[in-house]
Amino acid sequence: MMSDRKIQNTLDEIVNTLEFMKTLGVAGVDCSSDILEVVKSWDRKPATEGQTLASVQQAYQDCRRCALSKNRSAIVFGEGDPHADLVFVGEAPGEQEDLQGRPFVGPAGELLTKIISAMKLTRESVYICNIVKCRPPSNRNPLPIEIESCSPILKRQIDLIRPKVICALGGFAARTLLSTDNSITMLRGRFHRYQGIRLMPTYHPAHLLRHPEKKRDVWEDIKKIMAELGATP
Ligand code: SF4
Repeated sequence: MMSDRKIQNTLDEIVNTLEFMKTLGVAGVDCSSDILEVVKSWDRKPATEGQTLASVQQAYQDCRRCALSKNRSAIVFGEGDPHADLVFVGEAPGEQEDLQGRPFVGPAGELLTKIISAMKLTRESVYICNIVKCRPPSNRNPLPIEIESCSPILKRQIDLIRPKVICALGGFAARTLLSTDNSITMLRGRFHRYQGIRLMPTYHPAHLLRHPEKKRDVWEDIKKIMAELGATP
């Protein structure tokens, strides 16, 4: 029997494929908005009653579900508006984040804050979190077992916030959320689906610090998010 997660991933893949075919103008397959809405609604579930982001954070305040708990200074749960229309999801906390217990507060975080300001938003009006909540040693990529262990927290965060748009920051976050091996270069620039929510992958701010020439691409992705949210650049 398929697990709920596999069913959700399969539904997201169906929607992603239909939407991609729609952008290509494929004929012979019904990619109409009505059909897409029907498919998207198949696995829509309400957030668990009585739970809030604060209660979920409380429940995981001493989480030991994976080995990343051993060396962390703090769990970096996430922060921002619990009813945000836009959620940014990065990869994992770095050194500064681990020390302060807050997401995106190092140099890459400063750049993310500038991007949010350019959207005429504030950090307080969006929600910012990561795939895993504890810092991997030496900032290595999280292991599959660590992602699997931490995924219930992120899933619950998204279930409770139910944003209009998720922005996946970097290839790692995008590949994890979309259950794909495709590169960020292939994924960015168009909307996908995660748990039925529109998801735009773009380059991670840390990547932009090393490759400032990619800022133009990120701004193009951000403008699409703004249009989806009904805002103008
Ligand atoms: S990374 Fe996630 S699952 Fe692992 S210990 Fe930290 S909070 Fe728990």
